[in-house]
Amino acid sequence: MEDEFETLRGREAQRYIVSKAVEVGERVRTTLGPLGYDKMMVDKMGEFQLTNDGASILKMGGDRDPVARIVAQAAKAQEARVFDGTTGTTITLAELLKLAMVLIEKGVQTNAVMNGYRHALQIAIETAQSNATKGDTPYEAAKKVAETAITGKSAEAYIEILSDICAKAAEAAKPDNIKLIGRPGNPKDAELVEGVVILKQNAYPTDKDTFTGKILLLDEELGPPQANVNLADPSKIAEIAKVQQQYMEERLSAIDEMGIATVLCQKGMDSRAIQHFRRKGILAVRNIRKSDMHRIAKATNGEVVADLADIMIEELGSGTCKIRGEDGPNPYIQAVGENVNVASIILPAPTEQTAAEFSRAMDDAIGVAYITAKNPLTVPGAGSIQARMAAAIRASEPMQSSRAELAKLAFADALMVIPRTLAETAAMDIIDTLFELSINPELGVDPLTECVRDMTHVVEPLELVVSCLNTATENAISLLRTDEIQKSRPIQETFADEMS
Ligand code: ADP
Ligand code: MG
Repeated sequence: MEDEFETLRGREAQRYIVSKAVEVGERVRTTLGPLGYDKMMVDKMGEFQLTNDGASILKMGGDRDPVARIVAQAAKAQEARVFDGTTGTTITLAELLKLAMVLIEKGVQTNAVMNGYRHALQIAIETAQSNATKGDTPYEAAKKVAETAITGKSAEAYIEILSDICAKAAEAAKPDNIKLIGRPGNPKDAELVEGVVILKQNAYPTDKDTFTGKILLLDEELGPPQANVNLADPSKIAEIAKVQQQYMEERLSAIDEMGIATVLCQKGMDSRAIQHFRRKGILAVRNIRKSDMHRIAKATNGEVVADLADIMIEELGSGTCKIRGEDGPNPYIQAVGENVNVASIILPAPTEQTAAEFSRAMDDAIGVAYITAKNPLTVPGAGSIQARMAAAIRASEPMQSSRAELAKLAFADALMVIPRTLAETAAMDIIDTLFELSINPELGVDPLTECVRDMTHVVEPLELVVSCLNTATENAISLLRTDEIQKSRPIQETFADEMS
């Protein structure tokens, strides 16, 4: 039985950390860029998904190793901050650690490595800033980064319409306030819709299609309480029916008194309630998902209430609910309130698999479009910005400490992991590619044509690149400073040991 996991100290701990981080980097690196492979991930419940998103791969990998978890957290932090760049962050972090370890093994102090890295980070960020260009309009800039995010994914065939939607969505709402609705159909019919869309119908057929006014958001069954009696006794049944009838009348008249235009219910509605709403011309939708209820509450400045009996008038939402798309195969309800910063994207896809892929591609694209619409500075992608940053670091004034200087240069090398990996996904010659880029850092790697060329049409938000560098460097430094690692052994192993 190996004991290596119990406690590792000093150099041993550093070696372990670096080897684990490198392993994690290896796992995601093949997904980078437009030729990146998808990975099929199966979670604990047996659900599977195809993905090429670094963060989801690490999340679904279910790794219990502490180092792997820290790397996954770094990727997640990147995603939370700028919605994309997770693979790039992970492999840059792994490369920074790998090259640091080479220096440490040669006798360079960890502190000198950290100083060199920090100094190089500064130069890299300044270089990224000075290479940034400002879009003509936030829309133009956002659309361009959305195009880059969609390239190489199955959604690419519809890049024009999808990137336009992303850029418009970016100006309409925060990514968290945008609901993506995948459904069968032709992607050409993709649509950005104000407010919240739910793929539901009115509980009764009606000609009316617009309902404006107060909106009741109810998380309670709209039906009589269930009686727990022996139904064989006919006298009891009549009695119960009467009590139930009265109960329902009270609830429905409470709704009438509030002058409500729409009732949206998270649970069911019984036929009495539906008949009542029909007579009163109230829109009634039932079995709505909890997440949708909360989105609608946000959009209409209302709250989801759990009990009709003690509802306050301020808790009602207000706005307009429309029945839409009735002629098509998928009618839906659109809820629009005063809070205009809420939007939905209807995203038809040919199959269930592609629907999931489209959603993920759009998810990334909406995120970067949003970041860019807020700050329309972009830098050239395709490994070009990394080549430029590396060149600037290499050309900078030498540091006073020769060891820190070595680390500074190692940082420059580590940045090149991005163009190198892009070249690898296209099976390009690595030495030639890196050589060409070091001479012409204004060029980039085109995995699709397998050459180094002008790639200025591929752009990334400046903020994404800066955040990637900061996250990778911060985490590399904090992992390098760790000189003790304790890892509990898996329970089964401990158990087996005790049994033997
Ligand atoms: P991440 O999770 O880091 O965002 P991606 O798989 O989205 O990983 O890959 C992003 C990298 O691919 C960036 O360096 C970006 O510049 C590059 N890239 C994106 N599209 C292209 C393209 N068409 N040609 C070359 N490189 C591209
Ligand atoms: Mg990406």
